[in-house]
Amino acid sequence: MRNSISIVGGGFAGTLLARQIIERTKQYTIYLFNHTSELAKGVAYDCNQNTALLNVIASKMSAFPDDNENFLNWCLNHPNYKNESKSIVGSAFLPRKIYGEYLNAIWNETLSIAQEKGSEIIVISEKVISIEKVVNQFVVSTNDQKIESDICVLATGNEEPGKPKNCPDSLLTDNNYFSNPWKIDFSKINYSLPVLIIGNGLTMVDTVLSLREHHFSQKIISISPNGFNILPHRNFNLDFKSQLATIQTPISLLELVQLFNQEVKTLRKFGVSPEPIIDAFRPNVAKVWQQFSKEEKAKFMGRVRHIWGVARHRIPFVSYDKIMKEQINQQLEILAGKLVHLNQSNEGNKVTLWDKRLKSNKEFMVGSVINCTGPETKIVATKNDLLKQLYVCGMISQDSLLLGLRANTKTFRTINAENQENEQLFAIGSLLKGELWESTAVNELKNQAKELAVLLTNELPKT
Ligand SMILES: Cc1cc2nc3c(=O)[nH]c(=O)nc-3n(C[C@H](O)[C@H](O)[C@H](O)COP(=O)(O)OP(=O)(O)OC[C@H]3O[C@@H](n4cnc5c(N)ncnc54)[C@H](O)[C@@H]3O)c2cc1C
Repeated sequence: MRNSISIVGGGFAGTLLARQIIERTKQYTIYLFNHTSELAKGVAYDCNQNTALLNVIASKMSAFPDDNENFLNWCLNHPNYKNESKSIVGSAFLPRKIYGEYLNAIWNETLSIAQEKGSEIIVISEKVISIEKVVNQFVVSTNDQKIESDICVLATGNEEPGKPKNCPDSLLTDNNYFSNPWKIDFSKINYSLPVLIIGNGLTMVDTVLSLREHHFSQKIISISPNGFNILPHRNFNLDFKSQLATIQTPISLLELVQLFNQEVKTLRKFGVSPEPIIDAFRPNVAKVWQQFSKEEKAKFMGRVRHIWGVARHRIPFVSYDKIMKEQINQQLEILAGKLVHLNQSNEGNKVTLWDKRLKSNKEFMVGSVINCTGPETKIVATKNDLLKQLYVCGMISQDSLLLGLRANTKTFRTINAENQENEQLFAIGSLLKGELWESTAVNELKNQAKELAVLLTNELPKT
């Protein structure tokens, strides 16, 4: 008899996990649950705008750890790129909608492989609202059905942003408030007044560019605690041997920051900014994060997180130029500070913002308010009923910094409220942010999907 596995979440992580499993065995019946019938793309790649670009070059966006050029080769057969050279396409930041097409193609191929091998993948386009353990099985429930499973994997991805500080509750239900920046209905934007964007990261950039693509011509104001400038991806062509590429653990946060500052100084001597150090360090982030003490992680969150965010979340030059032009033309104002007050009226929303640089309040009349503060990671504050149910009944627990679920990152087994590993309940993707710090990008998720598939299938005979 086949074992059954329920994967909750049919974005990149969930569909690639299914693919990695069926490539290894046909001993599982896979139930893949997703909120909507659109699989694989998730919010990241389910977009139509040409301005929404990948923030990683094409040659580094393969969905398969063992085939680094898979995406690039797929692109070279795509009508848009088949006459272009491999090196040009490989170093391009392509539209995210193209990546969505690629993931769609992988998913269709996955279904064909499953059919050829006689494996079973059953897609259930419904929201999972609870998972209960009954003896040795899980009962996975949606509003319409209950599925019994031996194993469950949570691959629920990024949650919608949480409520911004100092926003009145009444705004949350107002038509002018957009709580989910990845699913904006642009026909509902108020086109006659400026827009306020809360947050100043990659999602802010996407939102500004999308507003303009939708012919929004009013001013855009963005507010975030530090108002840092967004950095572009620069091609340094440097052969810089950063010590952070081969960093040895244990290392304290202080030692790490000292090492980083020392290398920044070296690069600055030559007029080079520190991004190559970040790139060199990136593959080692999880290893270093995991050995930090609780206090060091908290210190990182308080003092280093924002700077790390700027250095790590860079954008293609073409997007950077547009954002710079917006600022130079005073069409986009990026403020450091905070939202102090928001007063709703029939004429619009009167917002008072604390300008950290000027040390004074500024007032603006805005129409729409868009929340770009980043995914909510505190389980009880998310809109995901399943995660809340699992948390409330103690089947999962949250890390002390409220960044995600507690889990054993070698086995992907989640940890319950009694500090025990759940033998058959796994998690991958953004849910592991508290354990790994970086656990969102394709390059992290594709490895997790493969590693978990290897673990799940090693116990079963190869077919
Ligand atoms: C706008 C944006 C751009 C990005 N660009 C890049 C990039 O250029 N390069 C890169 O490497 N990474 C990028 N990322 C990171 C991105 O998060 C990952 O690449 C990847 O798409 C995440 O996949 P996922 O499966 O973990 O999550 P998601 O794609 O969010 O998929 C999770 C799925 O689970 C479903 N789900 C959740 N809860 C339930 C439930 N209870 N029941 C049923 N279904 C449920 C959701 O509806 C969703 O479809 C980007 C992210 C965003 C948001």
